[in-house]
Amino acid sequence: MSSDYLKRWDTGHRSPIHDRIRRLYRALRASQHWSRSEWEAYLLKRLKRLVSHAWNHVPLYRSHWGEMPEIQSLEDFARLPILERSVVSNNPDLLRATTLPPGVQVGAPTTTSGSTGQVVRVHADTESVAAAAAAEILAMEWEEVDPTLPAAYVRTYSSGPPETVAALSKGVRIPRWASGPLREMFPWGDAFLIDASTSPDWIAQFLDAAKPQRLIGYPTVLLMTTDHWKPGYALRSVRCYGENLHQADKERLEERLGTRVWNAWSANETGPIANECPDTPGRLHLHGYLHYVEVVREDGEPCEPGESGSIMITPLYSVATPLVRYRLGDQATLGECECERTLPALASMDGRTFSMFRLHDGRRMLASRVIDRLGKVPGLVRFQILQWEYRRFEMLLVTAEADFQAVSEQAERLLREFFADEGEISVECRRVEELPLAPSGKFEKVRWMGQRDPK
Ligand SMILES: [Zn+2]
Repeated sequence: MSSDYLKRWDTGHRSPIHDRIRRLYRALRASQHWSRSEWEAYLLKRLKRLVSHAWNHVPLYRSHWGEMPEIQSLEDFARLPILERSVVSNNPDLLRATTLPPGVQVGAPTTTSGSTGQVVRVHADTESVAAAAAAEILAMEWEEVDPTLPAAYVRTYSSGPPETVAALSKGVRIPRWASGPLREMFPWGDAFLIDASTSPDWIAQFLDAAKPQRLIGYPTVLLMTTDHWKPGYALRSVRCYGENLHQADKERLEERLGTRVWNAWSANETGPIANECPDTPGRLHLHGYLHYVEVVREDGEPCEPGESGSIMITPLYSVATPLVRYRLGDQATLGECECERTLPALASMDGRTFSMFRLHDGRRMLASRVIDRLGKVPGLVRFQILQWEYRRFEMLLVTAEADFQAVSEQAERLLREFFADEGEISVECRRVEELPLAPSGKFEKVRWMGQRDPK
């Protein structure tokens, strides 16, 4: 059993949110060994409270539900209509709570274009921030993370002033750093941050100079980077998140980096959702104390263990923008874990891959940074980027007719900025009512339309 992370590393820094994080972490830790009846009683109590808050203070749910839901059991809850992304993205302001529970403060908005290309905006609040931080501490406990070691983060950095975004695309070092309220809670070592859409050979040079002991990033980019980077020492810990971590990739990364690679699953709208079990490699445990997760078939009926389905998530601690039975757009398969924890487990995450652009020299480049920034363009409902040739792009934009001119100018500018290092590109913007699916039936925000698999 892992040792209590706070007893080992807590700096003792006090403030209301830090105290809240500690309480939630203790509760999360205890919930790992709850009985089935303890889980049911807890979930029912939280879901009732959330549904009542949503009904009374969030305008969207009045029309979405029609009448006040009576929740007496988890089965009652499962009868509530699914909250589709299209409903949320068309009515971002209707999803905001008009009143918050006492002591809770609203935080910054997050926009995400998700795996369907539909833009969703949610507001963090002090409860959801504390919940995410508590989950992170439990994950660090499981992974036996030593916070004092230098850490490198290879991820998408799309928000902030342009000069910050530009600096992060080259890589920056921040002394004794971690993000959010955890920063004051632990004795962090230096952090090295670099944008994941930077070319892998540049990321490799950056890491070579940084010599991190911990590495956190997206699996595809880490794999491409380790084509160029041989650390020459065993890293202490590696965590992958953001897209599916396939077993073969996990093994290859473990071999190249000399340590166990831990999988994690989180979403912009919800924060951390699942982390890998310390006792059963490859198995993800959901943070059941923080999120109620259902996996359902196309007709909305619950999947059996071992059956892949669509994820419905209900964050139990998000009150500024409550999401109730929200279709996240990810697929997963529920399963059992061999350890003694009673937390729900996922057998696998299915079908979540990042969009990539192709470059003329055969390299691929992660498109998340430009996708994230497009997600923040006011008036842009949905979008898709078609790449016809290495330097020829068509942007399909779902917008109101009146917004199209302004939206297309901004969208084109963002794409040109993104490709600034690749020379002149051609961009054509087109307003569309709907967006086509790929031949696979999946929606791709970036689609290669040129010849098959060029090298
Ligand atoms: Zn387990």
